[in-house]
Amino acid sequence: MERILIIDDEASILKALKLGLASENYVVDLADDGSSGIQLGQTHSYDILITDLLLPDMNGLEVIRTLKSSDPEIVPIIITGQGSLQSSVEALRLEVCDYLEKPLSLPAVKRAIARGLQKRATTHQAHEMNARQSMASDTLTGLSDRSMLMNRLNSVVAESYQNDSLSYALFLIDIDHFKGVNDTYGHYTGDVIISELANRFKGCVRPSDMVARMNGDEFAVLIEGPESDLIAAAVAERCQREAGRAFDVDGQKVTLSVSIGLVVKTTYYESPDDVLRDADMALSSCKEQEGEGIRFFDQKMLDDAIESLQLENDLRIGIQNQEFMLHYQPILQLEDLRTIGLEALIRWHHPEHGIIYPDDFISKAEEIGLIYNLGNWVLEEGCRQLKQWQQTFPGLNDISLNLNISGHQFGQAEFADKIASIIADYSIDPGMLKFEITESVLMESSASAIEKLSAIKKIGTKLVLDDFGTGYSAFSYLHQFPLDELKIGKSFIQQMEFNTESYEIVKSVVELAQKLRLKVVAEGVETQDQFNRVKSLDFDMVQGFWFAKPGTASAICQHLENMPDPA
Ligand code: C2E
Ligand code: CA
Repeated sequence: MERILIIDDEASILKALKLGLASENYVVDLADDGSSGIQLGQTHSYDILITDLLLPDMNGLEVIRTLKSSDPEIVPIIITGQGSLQSSVEALRLEVCDYLEKPLSLPAVKRAIARGLQKRATTHQAHEMNARQSMASDTLTGLSDRSMLMNRLNSVVAESYQNDSLSYALFLIDIDHFKGVNDTYGHYTGDVIISELANRFKGCVRPSDMVARMNGDEFAVLIEGPESDLIAAAVAERCQREAGRAFDVDGQKVTLSVSIGLVVKTTYYESPDDVLRDADMALSSCKEQEGEGIRFFDQKMLDDAIESLQLENDLRIGIQNQEFMLHYQPILQLEDLRTIGLEALIRWHHPEHGIIYPDDFISKAEEIGLIYNLGNWVLEEGCRQLKQWQQTFPGLNDISLNLNISGHQFGQAEFADKIASIIADYSIDPGMLKFEITESVLMESSASAIEKLSAIKKIGTKLVLDDFGTGYSAFSYLHQFPLDELKIGKSFIQQMEFNTESYEIVKSVVELAQKLRLKVVAEGVETQDQFNRVKSLDFDMVQGFWFAKPGTASAICQHLENMPDPA
């Protein structure tokens, strides 16, 4: 049974949580200050630690730090009254899983616990795997393993913390796409390469430096006393060059590349975990920017990570507090420029930062699974608004509503049912709803995509392929999918103005789309010139700032009111 430790000095909170969690299958222990919490935490093993940030005798982060040092897998959740992450650097380092704002809501606490338990299961698995792999690494390469590296790092960090003149640098080396090597050449070759690589790395450092194998295809190098950051970088470059030399395995030549995350001593490091975490952050950042090879850890990475954590936290709060709204952008029929549709575009009214546009939060919402809540809200709110317009302007019953669907939402098994039930709730003509999906949705798994698209089509709604021209843009597969419209992305439309080649490409795309009986929309028309070019092609519909910018529901209401009645 999972064990949860809750530390808060407000007796009412402890009581409410104990009662509220009684029906769940957890063992819940309570403490009303930091030191009794630590005492409990050191005598029992807990899965989750929920602590107030402000305790009477110490800071909640202090409690987390102490308990994490005896049980690194415990998952911390913070209760905070301030609404901001004052101690965010430290919180990030301590891998705080969630923030709960006072006043607490029981469902939010339960959700945070569920997420925490999931995280705990994943880290536990990863720890076990690392332990297994580092044991294997000893036999394969004869290098030190992770725990030996951590021991050494521990003493190096402690010594240099006492003595300012002692320097050190740690770098993590990860083989790019090593799975591909194993898959292509087999595990035997993979093992030969790993042990050869270990020898090459050892040849790049002094005998007193440490090379360790952290797990399957990740190595660490700890150098002590480099005279400058440049020397550390030079050693990393040497390792990189050595790894890049071809390997000869039983007559086969295999080449590979590595990514390296590098961190050098600063006064800031008090624990080896901090150093490793930052090297890891540099490594991840290096992997993201393919082709770069070596990345020094810098403050910006930490700032980005904090910003990302803050965004995550704000998004959760934003959804709870209903800080989102829809704007609508008219879509016009090319032949007479009548508005025949509206595209709903989500906006976030952030209490501190003002309006935030979807490009800045949708991918985060996808990453942390909040896209389902947001997507369902968009669906519900869009349908509610469409119904209201239809009731206000009965003459405009033929105006359709376009909704953008994230690939994640689309992947949900129950998505079509959800659409059907909302359409029924608002008694909307399904033909008036158009779902905009991107090509990536079609490419990921075309068999199941066809099935899901067909289920949505069966309801009677329409499907639009959004942003054509920015992704794969392969025509050959389009006929397989039950699509109704194709939107040509704004970058394509805008390039037509400057570049005849783009014009010719768009022209052939439009012609081909017509052969496939797809209606074609030009998106992002911003100038008269772009509009002239669009007019000279057989587009069906246009959309863009040149005609109308996205506006609030009430601004759009005026736009609709001013529209001439259909002839
Ligand atoms: P998109 O689907 O390609 O939407 C069109 C974007 O282009 C919108 O940006 C719109 O404001 C902008 N736009 C329209 N006309 C013009 C123009 O003439 N010039 C220029 N430069 N831009 C124009 P927005 O609202 O910032 O949305 C960005 C993206 O966020 C959308 O791209 C869409 O992929 C996504 N998105 C928006 N709302 C939602 C939503 O409710 N759910 C999901 N999953 N994604 C959404
Ligand atoms: Ca769109």
